[in-house]
Amino acid sequence: MIGIDLSEKRALVTGGNRGIGRAIAEALAESGADVAVFARSEGSVREAAEAIVGRGVRSLALVGDVSSATDVGRAWDDVTEAWEGLDILVNNAGMTRDNLLLRMKDEEWEDVLAVNLSGAFHWCRLAVRSMIRQRYGRILNVSSVVGLTGNPGQSNYAASKAGLIGFTKSLAAEVAARGVTANAIAPGYIETEMTGAIGEAAKADYASRIPAGRLGDPRDVANLAVFIASPLAGYITGQVICVDGGLTR
Ligand code: NDP
Repeated sequence: MIGIDLSEKRALVTGGNRGIGRAIAEALAESGADVAVFARSEGSVREAAEAIVGRGVRSLALVGDVSSATDVGRAWDDVTEAWEGLDILVNNAGMTRDNLLLRMKDEEWEDVLAVNLSGAFHWCRLAVRSMIRQRYGRILNVSSVVGLTGNPGQSNYAASKAGLIGFTKSLAAEVAARGVTANAIAPGYIETEMTGAIGEAAKADYASRIPAGRLGDPRDVANLAVFIASPLAGYITGQVICVDGGLTR
């Protein structure tokens, strides 16, 4: 039996206050890691951090916007002051602004790229330096199957998630020899607030097209994240791993 022990590891999850990020943050904490949470909504960030502390590990509640290099820089200073650095960085924060390309407004394009792609860049640029120095690190970027397949009405989102894959692969090659891995997780259809607006009939239609016959749960993604974040996954880097019930294959 392989056990995953993340005690003594320091993690940060962007968007760790709800949805997939919250499930990842809690699963990392369950495995013994200290977990900092970074997102914009102060109340839920604090609540998530308190829940993590309730599991007997340390947490930090960090409020900010991933698209702002200033916010990320300030949060990074707080992390280094409290914990000196990070072992695990999960770039999970993301958003959608769906529209057909012909109707897409500049801000719909720019906001999605700024959050989903530049957000990961801002965090990685800071965290990777200290990971290289300590000769250990795990970067997990939450992409999407849409970054592999495209999706009508989501050219901005698909571009950001495909960009994240190219970013991850390049970073992986830059840091592999220094004990740092970088991988992308590509979830399929996972039930969270992001997908909550879709009606029951549409959900049933999606489920009928997924070989596993059901939509995903945030925990399905978190289970993979814990493994990729662990010392056991040290020889896995530059990969995109789908968690989609067999949808893309
Ligand atoms: P939710 O909408 O439920 O949560 C999004 C999270 O991102 C929240 O915690 C939110 O916190 C945070 N966030 C959004 N914008 C920013 C920002 N500018 N700065 C900091 N934090 C931000 O989404 P999911 O949990 O469903 O999605 C999580 C990730 O998984 C996203 O990257 C998404 O693209 C990806 N994904 C989701 C799929 C799904 O089916 N649900 C499928 C494939 C990929 P706050 O608002 O407080 O800032």
